[in-house]
Amino acid sequence: MMKRGWKETPIRGIILEAGSSHDYATGGWRKIKPVLDSAKCIDCMLCWVFCPDSAVIVENGKMLGFDLEHCKGCGICAEECPDKVKAITMLAEEEEEEIA
Ligand code: SF4
Ligand code: SF4
Repeated sequence: MMKRGWKETPIRGIILEAGSSHDYATGGWRKIKPVLDSAKCIDCMLCWVFCPDSAVIVENGKMLGFDLEHCKGCGICAEECPDKVKAITMLAEEEEEEIA
């Protein structure tokens, strides 16, 4: 196999338009989904801070739920929700949401 130098390596991973990640519905990758128990939530916003997909919906200082079009189901929000609160449960996609 012929070795390529850096000048022959095709350019990849260029983001041509800022903010274009919103156009990609990464929620289709998800196997498990976060479910909020709003009765337990103290609106600390830790889930919002840590979500790598900006998929936590917040309005006027209140945590409202999740943007499931973009949530990949990583579970970081549930992990970061304070131990004393634990307002987020990760459920299999097909499981019924009995909480909230
Ligand atoms: S599961 Fe992951 S991607 Fe989905 S809302 Fe929680 S932190 Fe964000
Ligand atoms: S981390 Fe937990 S308590 Fe804090 S806003 Fe999110 S769901 Fe509510």
